[in-house]
Amino acid sequence: MSVLVLGGAGYIGSHTVYELVDRDEDVVIADNLQTGYMDAVHPNARFYEGDIRDENFLNALFNEEKIDSVIHFAANSLVGESMTDPLKYYDNNLYGTMVLLKSMVKNGINKIVFSSTAATYGEPENIPILESDLKEPTNTYGETKLAMEKMIKWVSMAHDLRFVSLRYFNACGAHKSAKIGEAHKPETHLIPLILQVPNGRRGHINIFGDDYDTPDGTCIRDYIHVTDLAQAHILAVEYLQKGGENNIFNLGNGVGFSVKEVVETARKVTGHPIPAVISPRRAGDPARLVASCEKAKQILGWKPSYTELDEIIDSAWNWHKNHPDGFIH
Ligand code: UDP
Repeated sequence: MSVLVLGGAGYIGSHTVYELVDRDEDVVIADNLQTGYMDAVHPNARFYEGDIRDENFLNALFNEEKIDSVIHFAANSLVGESMTDPLKYYDNNLYGTMVLLKSMVKNGINKIVFSSTAATYGEPENIPILESDLKEPTNTYGETKLAMEKMIKWVSMAHDLRFVSLRYFNACGAHKSAKIGEAHKPETHLIPLILQVPNGRRGHINIFGDDYDTPDGTCIRDYIHVTDLAQAHILAVEYLQKGGENNIFNLGNGVGFSVKEVVETARKVTGHPIPAVISPRRAGDPARLVASCEKAKQILGWKPSYTELDEIIDSAWNWHKNHPDGFIH
């Protein structure tokens, strides 16, 4: 039996495939390559190019392969873009998940691990954030992810289907081999943008707002290494295989760092002065997002291995300095 990774050519998907292959799992990938890269596809996984909105494509795949469980990363994930093009997010994320669930139910595939996000919470009421806390997304991306979670829940109540939703905080870092890493077009995430400065691709980093209600005025986030996220997906698949009930887990380190602290750490790691310019706030940014990840630790037995910000940035730097333009050669 195989694990199907939808979006396995993307950032977190490709890292999860690398960990699955390392554990001798039989891995099948489906990706439409709109934001993923063929160069990120592990050579030992079977690759199908196609779109989850295409039910015939999914039915044919489920016919061809013996799939035990699905890990679903196939979605658009840029907060800014989701605000200017919300229907793209409803179409690919929500409608795509509807077609996927229809095909899974039809083909008797009954386990799904779903890639969710801290953006489902919006502006948090409490820090650290618990899975049960209020969810009021402040952008279309978070709204569609929350709706996808709920769609999976309702379908699981009507059909033979169990799920785990994993709400990631700020994914970062790269595979230890530096063969794969973070590469978004356009890049909007803090750590890759900072590292474009020592790579000579930009002159400075903009700090979006220094007047937040935080100790140094800049936003605080919980940075979690992509390989630790990948391990959590594998634990979630095993949890479902052992008969675990529907569940939702936060994935973070449980520690917050401000934008200024991230820039300062990147200066130390790269040895580059990395000039920073204070710029206006970015719309929709909560001041603080820090996870409580006790539930994932207790129930899944998950334990992040990259706990220090400098080792996370060092791992990202190891990829970016060798691939200054990502997967574009
Ligand atoms: N950020 C910044 N400058 C940038 C990109 C991001 O100051 O060029 C800030 C952003 O406002 C947020 C934090 O860095 O407070 C992390 O942003 P990112 O886009 O990496 O992840 P998000 O938290 O939005 O998922």
